[in-house]
Amino acid sequence: PIYLDYAATTPLDPKVAKKMKNYFTIDGNFGNAASRSHQFGWNAEEAVDIARNEIATLIGADSREIIFTSGATESNNLAIKGIYEFYKKKNNHIITSKIEHKSVLDTCRYLENDGCQITYLSPQSNGIIDIEEIKKNILPTTLLISIMHVNNETGVIQDIKSIGKLCKKKGIFFHVDATQSVGKIHINLKKLMIDLLSCSAHKIYGPKGIGILYVRRQPRVRLTAQIHGGGHERGMRSGTLAVHQIVGFGKACKILTKKMKKENIQYIQLRNMLWNGIKNIPEIYLNSPLKYITSNILNVSFNFIEGESLIMALKNLAISSGSACTSASLEASYVLRAMGVKDELAHSSIRFSLGRFTSINDIQRTIKKYIKQLINYEFFLHYGKC
Ligand code: PLP
Repeated sequence: PIYLDYAATTPLDPKVAKKMKNYFTIDGNFGNAASRSHQFGWNAEEAVDIARNEIATLIGADSREIIFTSGATESNNLAIKGIYEFYKKKNNHIITSKIEHKSVLDTCRYLENDGCQITYLSPQSNGIIDIEEIKKNILPTTLLISIMHVNNETGVIQDIKSIGKLCKKKGIFFHVDATQSVGKIHINLKKLMIDLLSCSAHKIYGPKGIGILYVRRQPRVRLTAQIHGGGHERGMRSGTLAVHQIVGFGKACKILTKKMKKENIQYIQLRNMLWNGIKNIPEIYLNSPLKYITSNILNVSFNFIEGESLIMALKNLAISSGSACTSASLEASYVLRAMGVKDELAHSSIRFSLGRFTSINDIQRTIKKYIKQLINYEFFLHYGKC
């Protein structure tokens, strides 16, 4: 099978796997980074410090601004709930968008039960959130704006530079879910006016189950902890640090600091090759213009075919569908619907996402062997319904 689902997750880079192997067993560095009284603890602590630096370097942060979590879902929860709980007596309004990842949207919905007021902005038809819309919706009580950097379904990039400037001017905190952009787009937190930023190792050839929340130190951002315990991570996230995961995350970032630029040129070439190979298929639609999207994602709809059916038919192609077949109903992508894409097309959307191990041969086979061969009349008849 060909793997074109890198936006869902990535395999470990073999160099990351090799590094992590040294952090499990008695002959390795298995210590608890919080054990301050012996060599095993010191070694683990040193490994964590190095990794923290490698991660901070990739995003232009200070290593003291990095809080380890179990992944971007937890980081988004900690950022939004944490800031709301700390500052809610002062301000209780949050602005976000309808196209955020569920870990942002569901967290916001949860806070509504506590009296938090949330504004969910719609994107324009190109998937971009209009800064004027943000301005219009700011209230005297607005505490936080949470807007993702790159959308996980469409790859559309938001203008976080301008939103950050606006937030700074208005004295509003700014949270960015950068899970899909880290490693694809150069991020320098020294230059961007972002207070909180979430990302995850498993999208960048690191291990699953580890992420970070960047929390700005100057001016200082305060959060109420969501996991209480030994006071790890400057009291913001307790729990014994997963040293092996952290070391893997660090290595993944170190590789990207070196390779990112070159790698993304390659993604763009392969992604364009894929689009050029399929764009003449009748009734195919590109869901986001190439000029607005990140290097590795292509989201298209095949009119008249439901995405799930297409995925079932393309068993040897690992891709994602924008619609989900449940027993009772078929739900179309909420992201595409928010962009105003017609229901039929939102149902029939497919996301291809490319990565480090995608070859020219993979793309050629995808075009010739799978996509073109399937898009014929019989296929429409056979798989046209979910
Ligand atoms: N945010 C975005 C934009 C994502 O794409 C994902 C992963 O799919 C997440 C958050 C959640 O990340 P994690 O799997 O690390 O919890």
